[in-house]
Amino acid sequence: MTIGILGGGQLGYMLALAGYPLGLHFRFLDPSPEAPVGRIATRITAKFTDRIALKKFAQGLALVTYEFENVPVEAARFLAERVPVLPSPAALEVAQDRLKEKQLFQKLGIATTEFAPVADRSALEAAVRQIGLPAVLKTCRLGYDGKGQWILRSIEEVTRAKAELPVERAAATKKRGRAQASPEDAAFILERFVPFARELSILAVRGRTGETGVYPLVENHHRGGILRLSLAPAPRLDAVIQRAAEDAAKRVLDSLQYVGVLAIEFFEYEGRLLANEMAPRVHNSGHWTIEGAVTSQFENHLRAVTGLPLGSTSAIGYSAMLNLIGDAPDSAEVLAVRDAHLHLYGKTRRSGRKLGHVTLRAGSPEQLASRLGELPSFFHRPEFCLDAALTYRASLRA
Ligand code: AMP
Repeated sequence: MTIGILGGGQLGYMLALAGYPLGLHFRFLDPSPEAPVGRIATRITAKFTDRIALKKFAQGLALVTYEFENVPVEAARFLAERVPVLPSPAALEVAQDRLKEKQLFQKLGIATTEFAPVADRSALEAAVRQIGLPAVLKTCRLGYDGKGQWILRSIEEVTRAKAELPVERAAATKKRGRAQASPEDAAFILERFVPFARELSILAVRGRTGETGVYPLVENHHRGGILRLSLAPAPRLDAVIQRAAEDAAKRVLDSLQYVGVLAIEFFEYEGRLLANEMAPRVHNSGHWTIEGAVTSQFENHLRAVTGLPLGSTSAIGYSAMLNLIGDAPDSAEVLAVRDAHLHLYGKTRRSGRKLGHVTLRAGSPEQLASRLGELPSFFHRPEFCLDAALTYRASLRA
């Protein structure tokens, strides 16, 4: 059985690696001739909007899935006329738009921070009056890893952000023959700033028969808007919080008749969860599951979309996942640490690029803290998770 994957980055790479033992074959479509999956699978290099390439890509595939959430929905719909596309293009559409995502959470009774649509720059002040300051202004679409966001603490910052806002959306609306952008067309979303205690995420999976599985909540640490460290299961994990996250994930999965792995990111604030966003795919905060769970997120995604029974989502011990951003350490130094697992994605080094990750697994939180401390000096550099060990030790003491 050959599975088509839209996007050929590290998530696709790890999906294929998880799928080969199940006897699956893969074909990728990615616009970049450098997409890392080229090393391990057939890769078609073409734009997602290239219909001739999409047709060629679809030929003989059992199904199509994606590892990149900004695949144009029209491409997913075009493929869905030829071959099953899972998760559905409808799920993809919701997850591509921060406003639609938050409206779905709201409809399903999942708590979020207060938010308001901002149709264009002229609507910003009114939204600020409604939401109050401090607030976070985000583009509804295409923002990721903290890009396309403005933190607004004062009226001066509102004025400054307004001057910086792009105007493309208004132009796009005009092109479609409408004089004014409507709230459904909002280019931005304004959110009340959450002084959260920590960031948590959950990975959940739903199979073709409606069977679901949920991994334990993970604690995530970001620097410069990029995930640096995940601790799994999240330290000091309260059963009530875990249940709330599971409940939220199941509601989203069922409401979208979702098939595959879904990630939801939350803020923990005053002892409860506020949903921030979701990703309709395997997720960086789930990489620990390769060694740290009975079944990895990658394998479970493939089991789900191919209609196989789901595997257990239970954690094996305690894991820490560290992202290698822009630079990678000496492999031997990493692997000298007991139970350290190194994953390199085969990409050339470039600042800000996710080149690989390291997962440490241990039998107890204390042992994990001590293993983190044993990592080579590379990981103690300021730009790289410098406080990885300290964060975890501190969280154990708290
Ligand atoms: P996002 O792209 O929505 O995941 O946002 C990127 C990061 O910005 C998050 O991981 C948070 O650290 C921060 N952030 C986003 N929204 C808010 C908010 N409403 N309040 C406080 N921090 C936020």
